[in-house]
Amino acid sequence: MVKDGVSVWEDCLKFIRGQVGDQSFKTWFEPIKPINLDDQVLTIQVPSQFFYEYLEEHYVHVLRQVIYNELGPAGRLEYSVIVDSGSTKNQPYVVTLPNQNHNKKWDRTAPTSPTISNPFEMPSLEEEFRYSNLNPNYDFENYIEGDCNRLARSAGLAVAEKPGVTSFNPLMIYGGVGLGKTHLVQAIGNKVGGADKKNFVLYVSSEKFTTQFTDAIKNNSIQSFTNFYLQVDTLLIDDVQFFAGKEKTQEMFFHIFNHLHQNGKQIVMSSDRPPRDLKGLQDRLLSRFKWGLTADLQMPDFETRMAIILRKMQSDGIFIPDDVVEYLAYSVDTNVRELEGVLISIIAHATLNKSEINLELAKQTLKNIVHDIESEVGVDYIQKSVGEYFQISVADLKDKTRKKEIVIARQVAMYLCKEYTNHSLKSIGYHFGGRDHSTVIHAVQSVSDMMDVDNSFGSQINELKKKMRMKSV
Ligand code: ADP
Ligand code: MG
Repeated sequence: MVKDGVSVWEDCLKFIRGQVGDQSFKTWFEPIKPINLDDQVLTIQVPSQFFYEYLEEHYVHVLRQVIYNELGPAGRLEYSVIVDSGSTKNQPYVVTLPNQNHNKKWDRTAPTSPTISNPFEMPSLEEEFRYSNLNPNYDFENYIEGDCNRLARSAGLAVAEKPGVTSFNPLMIYGGVGLGKTHLVQAIGNKVGGADKKNFVLYVSSEKFTTQFTDAIKNNSIQSFTNFYLQVDTLLIDDVQFFAGKEKTQEMFFHIFNHLHQNGKQIVMSSDRPPRDLKGLQDRLLSRFKWGLTADLQMPDFETRMAIILRKMQSDGIFIPDDVVEYLAYSVDTNVRELEGVLISIIAHATLNKSEINLELAKQTLKNIVHDIESEVGVDYIQKSVGEYFQISVADLKDKTRKKEIVIARQVAMYLCKEYTNHSLKSIGYHFGGRDHSTVIHAVQSVSDMMDVDNSFGSQINELKKKMRMKSV
């Protein structure tokens, strides 16, 4: 062990500690041992492959920076990964891996070459996004088609085949939580990138875009932020409802959107509600969204749910009896993510208990997931959640205001109170600024009528209901 390696690493740790917070430092950095420093290559030993991957995924920037600080531009970092901790007979088995992100773009295998081409530099957006952020598991083949998604899916396919060329630009996909927005948006990206490696595809969540933008303001690097986004050929931006109320971010996005659109680049967006309900987004941005095509995703019907389960069974190589498949497709009608969640729980139960998958087990599992909800959810919680969801203050919910949005939100909150609490109609009225019980009856009735005729309103309410159920778990 070269003495220098230890002291270099000690200095590195001092810097890292200031960057990552105590808990992460303890978990991820304390277990590391410096083992060698040779010609500006510092080798550190980590306890497992997972550890290596985790560090590379979450702390690559810090590591690059600290190596740059300590060893200069030619500095490099290598990991020695303990693959098998060994026994009295065997020595521990280690492999050496470079400090380099392990998922190459379009390449699903881990790198085998130990060389590293980039010297360590300050992290840039290019590096952060070198791999387009796409998950290769989301493709069109495993995106089951049904009435619920036909338009969105086929528009997505058309866009993926001819990005920037069809009139579906931007393509805006909207639908409630867990209905397949991210899957579809990613499938478009994978198809575009798979067919044309020169097309710079980028998937980014609106949340991440916002954080990067805020960081760029702080670091005085708006110019490089903009330059980076203006190079993109296919921009996939997920969950744009997150932009609500963020004026500066919207302005930046507007600018990027216009530039890309004018240059024939493809833009695909997703949102959890239709553009007309995107409160807190500037009109000029909303009007751009309507230039192309807006397509919705609904909850799959029974047959499509069956097909999704069967597809999942096939890809996971598991067998589930027909009556169980039918039972699940029939009972889980909230969203696809939940359907998958229940399926995974059932498989986990069967595996852990070494029992077979049968109807009894399915019923039991479902029962454990859907808890009795009454006691945990109170009026306050409902008012707060509904207020946040519709971006209305709790005071307004209780007030006399007759503004349409507020009235609807207030009725929704009353409806949820009736559904999820033990309060009487009279008591619910009391909690909404002393209204009488007939107002509550009317609210409950209007909400359920509206849910019947307006699908997107229905899915908003279902989302809120989901939130209530989650709270009680
Ligand atoms: P969202 O982004 O709308 O919240 P996701 O795209 O994350 O939803 O989808 C939730 C899960 O459901 C994912 O695992 C996805 O693969 C699956 N899924 C959704 N729709 C379909 C579909 N039509 N066919 C197959 N899987 C689907
Ligand atoms: Mg999503």
